[in-house]
Amino acid sequence: MIALALCAGAWLYVLQAGGDHFTTLDPCDPQSVGEGYGTIAAIYNVENGMVAGLCYGAPDDDLFRSWESLAGITTPNERASLRSFAIYDGEFGGYTQQLDREASQFMIAVNRSTAQSHSQSLRWVMAHEFAHVFTSHESNVWSGEKVPTVDCLGDQNLYGCAGWNNYLATWTYQFWPDPEIEALELAYRDPAEAARRCRSDAGFVGEYAATNPGEDFAQSFAAFILSVPVPASAQSRVNFMASNQAIVQMRDRIHAAGLSSPDLQLSSCG
Ligand SMILES: [Zn+2]
Repeated sequence: MIALALCAGAWLYVLQAGGDHFTTLDPCDPQSVGEGYGTIAAIYNVENGMVAGLCYGAPDDDLFRSWESLAGITTPNERASLRSFAIYDGEFGGYTQQLDREASQFMIAVNRSTAQSHSQSLRWVMAHEFAHVFTSHESNVWSGEKVPTVDCLGDQNLYGCAGWNNYLATWTYQFWPDPEIEALELAYRDPAEAARRCRSDAGFVGEYAATNPGEDFAQSFAAFILSVPVPASAQSRVNFMASNQAIVQMRDRIHAAGLSSPDLQLSSCG
């Protein structure tokens, strides 16, 4: 079994900025993007989904290895909203940072320990972080069932203000009942709450997925596109992914490239 690292979360931006005082963050400045999960060592500037050069720190083999991992499972077009890619020394496997209020620009940061881990573990974290970018973009409109249009939920904006017609909104509508959404307003990233949900609902692909809808989607997305076996009880989440052509195309392309990760193992809930 290959260990799976955890992601610190996608919405650090809104937690830092708070309220209506949004300013676009500098994708190449550690002080601007914040270093809440550790010290950033180096950052690539990313343009049109491609590395446009090192914009902070010194050349770093672990940064390069991590970028190659992400680039192996995504196309430049899929990475178009990425503005920078960083390596840091600190907590968690990685994190995704929203850089602007419109959720049109992002930074992905990978922990050095993740970068130095087994290639399948690194690829898992890259797929997971990419899911946060993928679901945040407002243009990422789900073509299936319509969901109600509502405003962002309060100042913290649990869904990154991505709009209620995107994948994550539809996902939340389908898999997260109202009482659990209300519970999130008090504890959005609480391991004890995740453990409770995992015990009571076998539909999650592991305990970390039960943290909140964003992590639920990201874990399920990573498992799907990397063809990682999931518990039979999580089939409805697999079906969600399988009903979307863009996500299926990613999975098939990754499989054809020999980059599936069948050796990864997810824990089960319920
Ligand atoms: Zn995450």
